[in-house]
Amino acid sequence: MAILIDGKAVAKTIIEQVRERVSSLKVKPCLAIVMVGKNPASAIYVSGKEKACAEAGIECRRTSLNENISESKLLDVVNALNNDPAVHGILVQLPLPKQIDEDVIINSILPTKDVDGFSPVSMGLLSIGNPHFIPATALGCVKLIESTGVPIAGRHAVVVGRSNIVGKPVASLLLERNATVTVCHSRTKNLADYARMADILVVAVGKPGTITGSMVKKGAVVIDVGINRLPGGSIVGDVDFDSVSKVAGFITPVPGGVGPMTIACLMENTVRACEGQGR
Ligand code: NDP
Repeated sequence: MAILIDGKAVAKTIIEQVRERVSSLKVKPCLAIVMVGKNPASAIYVSGKEKACAEAGIECRRTSLNENISESKLLDVVNALNNDPAVHGILVQLPLPKQIDEDVIINSILPTKDVDGFSPVSMGLLSIGNPHFIPATALGCVKLIESTGVPIAGRHAVVVGRSNIVGKPVASLLLERNATVTVCHSRTKNLADYARMADILVVAVGKPGTITGSMVKKGAVVIDVGINRLPGGSIVGDVDFDSVSKVAGFITPVPGGVGPMTIACLMENTVRACEGQGR
């Protein structure tokens, strides 16, 4: 039976470390969160981030905007935050309404305040192995793998999903740590054949049951990024926990695995932004 990787516990330790770093700063770090519209899932994520800020001693400044806001008005809001020296990190909660080009907005955040790490500058730096701000979910995945004590270097890591916010940055981070990395996606033929070769399997697809026990190598480290709400309201990941936990060596639960780590790593990025280091 796989050992459960306790994301909540690892995240709590990170938040405590951030809190200590904050207490040694002369200035209180400030994270500005911009939320457009009333997407219920986004509202839950934003409240989680506000709660974590309070725990870490970070000021959280939320700007809630009408869902009909124009792109140029939203750009004005971001620019005002870019120019505000009291704001250290800026996060625009995604998804944005249809009339707004997300790339334009993300690209408008100053790289020194891009604590989500989604801007082309942050992504480019990550892919050349000189990361500044690392996307929080990807960093959270790697920290969870590291928490198992299983070495990454020389292992075969398979990442399922190639989004800019999860799959690609996870693959870059694992490559940087000297894993041999395979990235799978919706056009991959015979996903099971690749998944079964993985010593480390990271799954970020958004479909329940993408990975089942017969697709996993015995003893593998399995990180389930997926968050899927079933019709009954319960939340499950992309990995079939029951069958995979019988084969894997380590596995993250959903909820309580990657989710809390995303928020904790965002706090870490924000304190870094305030310290003026970036990563
Ligand atoms: P995207 O929809 O942007 O990307 C999904 C990826 O999965 C794509 O690369 C897609 O391939 C691939 N894919 C789709 N179907 C298959 C399939 N059958 N086999 C293999 N690959 C497939 O999603 P995100 O990366 O944004 O998110 C993924 C999941 O992680 C979601 O459930 C999301 O809610 C969750 N998430 C969780 C976070 C957390 O904090 N725990 C944070 C962010 C996301 P292709 O590129 O070919 O279309």
